[in-house]
Amino acid sequence: MTPDGGRKPDLATLAVHAGASRGTEAAVVDVVQQRLAALEGTEASLLLSSGMGAIACALLALLRPGDHVLASAWIYGAAAELLSKEFASLGIDVSLVNPLETRVWRKNIRKETRAVFLETPVNPSCRVLDLRPVSYVTKECGLALVVDSTFASPINLRPIEHGADVVIHSATNYLNGHRDVVGGVVCGTSSYVDEVRRKMKLWGQAPDPFTAWLLERGLETLDVRVQRQNRNAMAVARWCAEQPKIAKVHYSGLPSHPDHEIASATMNGFGAMLGIELADGAAATDWFLRKLRVIRYAPSLGGVDSLVCEPRVTSHVQSTPAERAAAGIPDGFIRLSLGIESAQDLIGDIEQALH
Ligand code: PLP
Repeated sequence: MTPDGGRKPDLATLAVHAGASRGTEAAVVDVVQQRLAALEGTEASLLLSSGMGAIACALLALLRPGDHVLASAWIYGAAAELLSKEFASLGIDVSLVNPLETRVWRKNIRKETRAVFLETPVNPSCRVLDLRPVSYVTKECGLALVVDSTFASPINLRPIEHGADVVIHSATNYLNGHRDVVGGVVCGTSSYVDEVRRKMKLWGQAPDPFTAWLLERGLETLDVRVQRQNRNAMAVARWCAEQPKIAKVHYSGLPSHPDHEIASATMNGFGAMLGIELADGAAATDWFLRKLRVIRYAPSLGGVDSLVCEPRVTSHVQSTPAERAAAGIPDGFIRLSLGIESAQDLIGDIEQALH
């Protein structure tokens, strides 16, 4: 309930109106930031020039030379490189760990550790991590739990409700939804966001105002877009799971997915992202991708139009085949981002490409 006794608005309303809205004196960037903070349930949020800029400034605001950051190895490829190469050169020690290993967080914490960084759902493997046990450890040890929630959108997951301290998004994807913006968001307490803003200015990661304007419009349809994308992805995943020409479907909405229970307990929707592996193996992938007509080949995600890509040559091009296989993305893994088209057309497109 709100202080005046009214009902708290739900996410669909928060995406359209939260604090300042269009028509007030607030700058468009403030409107966007207030809506995003309301959507994630944080005191404040900050818009930056890209998702990578958001990750970099969010962590730079927490870490100093000599500090240690414990991160999941299952993070966006460029984020892994940022941590293991750039942060290492700044004197910040980084451990990249398998997030599914038992007691992995507690075991790897040192006295210099300041933050735990992870991504859920994981791009592109579609694994879903349980934030609750991680947050018990970070709270007990006084560490910041920083979550890249790009793959979920606030409609499907609100990490703060499961113990996260900081939430990051690449606004390039679901939040804007129309593939005409590059942006990033950091959500957290006001004092922390002030420090991220300082880093943003000094490291040149400020967004341009037109990005804020486009993003503000994108947010107004966030809820309807994501709900429809969730439904499309579920329909496509169920259909794919029945096809003899498809060996494996990676979608947490399917009961066969290893994280179905965690996703059902912690997420409001299973998202638009799914992975498939063809029965004829990696060799068949190229032909399949060339035959798709409605679903287009491009590396972006979370937008209104359906896209397909191979992480082997996009987000995880820097990893070796063995590293990719260990991260749940063997060669031949095809990543689909389902848009808002008709589910029947999407299924029809996959069907014709399989034959
Ligand atoms: N984090 C995740 C999970 C992503 O998928 C991406 C990009 O796709 C990024 C971060 C980086 O975002 P940007 O391309 O806006 O820098």
